[in-house]
Amino acid sequence: MNIGVPTEVKPDEYRVAMLPVGVEELVRRGHRVLMERHAGEGSGLPDEAYIEAGATMVETAAEVWGGADLIVKVKEPQPSEWPLVKRGQTVFTYFHFAASRELTEAMLASGATCIAYETLADDQGRLPLLTPMSEVAGRMSIQEGAKYLERPQMGRGILLGGVPGVAPAHITVLGGGVVGANAAKIAAGFQASVAILDINMDRLRYLDDIMPANVDCLYSDRHTIRRQLERADLVVGAVLIPGAKAPRLVERSDLARMQNGAVIIDVAIDQGGCMETSRPTSHADPTYIVDGVVHYCVTNMPGAVGRTSTFALCNVTLPWVMRIAAAGPGSDGAAQAATASKPLARAVNLFDGAVTNGPVAE
Ligand code: NAD
Repeated sequence: MNIGVPTEVKPDEYRVAMLPVGVEELVRRGHRVLMERHAGEGSGLPDEAYIEAGATMVETAAEVWGGADLIVKVKEPQPSEWPLVKRGQTVFTYFHFAASRELTEAMLASGATCIAYETLADDQGRLPLLTPMSEVAGRMSIQEGAKYLERPQMGRGILLGGVPGVAPAHITVLGGGVVGANAAKIAAGFQASVAILDINMDRLRYLDDIMPANVDCLYSDRHTIRRQLERADLVVGAVLIPGAKAPRLVERSDLARMQNGAVIIDVAIDQGGCMETSRPTSHADPTYIVDGVVHYCVTNMPGAVGRTSTFALCNVTLPWVMRIAAAGPGSDGAAQAATASKPLARAVNLFDGAVTNGPVAE
C-alpha cells in the first residue's frame, strides 16, 4: 500500500505522524511510504533519517495526498488540504468532527474514509490514542506552573520545592485521571506539597496506593475545593466528564480566596475549562490575569513539546497504521480492517460518504 505522511500545516503544530522507525517497519512489510520533505523537522527529525529508513521523499503536499492510499497525520485536515483528499483514500488522524460541521461536510464530500484517533476505544472504554497527549499535558502543567510562579512572569515568586528552612509550594490538582495523576507525580517529584481531588472513590483509592507521601488524595466537593484554593500557589484543572463540557468547579468569586500571584493551569480548557474565568489561549500569548490570579489556558499544550509528543503519539499509532495497511487499499481494505478490530471500527467516523459514528452524526 502507498502510505503518505504530509507536513502538518496547522499553526503552532510541530509534530509529525510517523517516526523513521515507523517507515522502516512499514517498508519491511512491503509498503511504500511517501514523506513530504521537511515533515519531521519541527520534531528534530531530519529528512536523512527518513531516507535511511526507506522513505520516498516528495517535495509537495499535493504529491503526498495524490500518491497515497492511506494518509497518516496529526491534526485534522486544514482547509488548504481539503481539495487534496480523494475518494477511496483512508485518512487516519485526530479529527474532532463534533467540533466542526464544516470539516465534517468537507470530508463527507471528499468520499474518503476517516478514522479518528480520538474515538479509537478499547473494550474497557479507554482511549489509547488520547492517553499519551494527556500524559504530556499533565506533566507539562507543573513545568508551566513553575515558570509562571516566577515573579518576572507575574507569579508569586515561589520555588516549587522550597529550600531547607522554607516551605515548598502547595499544588492542588482538580481531577485524578491521566492528566491529574501525571501532574501530581511530577509535582511530588519537585518536593511540593500536593493535593489531588476526584469524585471517583475507586480512583482515589488507587491514587492513594501509588502516590508518594507528599500527595494527599481528597474527595472533590465545594468545601474542600474552597479550602484548597486558599492554600494553593498552583492549581491544575484536569477534570473530564466524557462527552460533556468540563464541570465548573471554581467560580469567579472563589478567586478572591486565592493568594495574589497564584497560578491556574486549566488543562481542561479544550472542553471549556473548569474555572468560570478560563478562556482559551495560545502558545504565542499563553497567560492573562483575573483578580490577581495568573491563568494559563493553552488548548494544545503538547504542541510546545513537539518532539516528546511526536514520539509519544507515534509509539501508540504505529500498530494501528500497520493493521490498516495490512488490510489493503480503498474502502474495501478499510472495511476489512474495521471488521477485524472493534477498536478500529469505533474509530471509523466517516465511510464512503456517510457518517458512521453516533455522537458525530448527532
Ligand atoms: P480522565 O478521564 O483520565 O480524567 C478525568 C478525571 O476527572 C476522572 O478521574 C474523573 O473522575 C474526574 N472528575 C470528574 N468530575 C470531577 C469533579 N467534579 N471533581 C474532581 N474530579 C472530577 O481525563 P484526562 O485524560 O486526564 O483529561 C483531562 C482533561 O484534559 C480533558 O478535558 C482533556 O481533554 C484535557 N486535555 C487537554 C490538553 C491541552 O492541551 N489543554 C491536552 C490533553 C488533555
